Amino acid sequence: MAGVDDIDMLLPQTQCTRCGYEGCRPYAQAIIDGEAQINQCPPGGDATIAALAALLGRAVLPLNPANGTHGPQRVAQIDEEACIGCAKCLPPCPVDAILGAQRHMHTVLVELCNGCELCVAPCPVDCIRMVDRTELVDRKIAAAASAPTTEDNRRRFQAHAARRLERTAARERLLAERKSGSTAGGP
Ligand code: SF4
Ligand code: SF4
Ligand code: SF4
Repeated sequence: MAGVDDIDMLLPQTQCTRCGYEGCRPYAQAIIDGEAQINQCPPGGDATIAALAALLGRAVLPLNPANGTHGPQRVAQIDEEACIGCAKCLPPCPVDAILGAQRHMHTVLVELCNGCELCVAPCPVDCIRMVDRTELVDRKIAAAASAPTTEDNRRRFQAHAARRLERTAARERLLAERKSGSTAGGP
């Protein structure tokens, strides 16, 4: 019988949340739990629906328009003149495709960007826009010719999640040390 791992293997791994879940694996779990249908992943489109239907022995369904539409690959572009260097776009990027530091201009590594759009809403000055990858290829931006594969997305998301966990653990250790220090030195 197919499990969460088998379903997750068929999903595009952009972690875009358009399926209505926090990422690809939570969506896979929801399918197993009978909470979600197999037609909720716009980045995967018909190909992913067909693969899920074959795996699970279900009927093919049309993509649910409530989740969005399947279209050409897109990438984020930052208007570097308008960027204020607030760094709010960095944490949401599941594949760490944005480079920059506080108070410095940020830029997108288009060869890593999976088009999830999760960086767009957090930008306080609306200087991130999504463009078709082919538009950048036409403009002879060489890096745009190489789009990340599903496996690239998975590997980079796992690394991103591991770094986030490590940062949280380090912060908690620091807080605990400070707390125990202030208790030891207390009245
Ligand atoms: S790629 Fe598909 S399964 Fe993964 S989060 Fe986006 S919509 Fe959900
Ligand atoms: S740069 Fe933006 S659109 Fe591209 S992967 Fe990161 S969060 Fe998603
Ligand atoms: S969120 Fe917008 S303004 Fe802030 S660093 Fe990112 S691109 Fe620049």
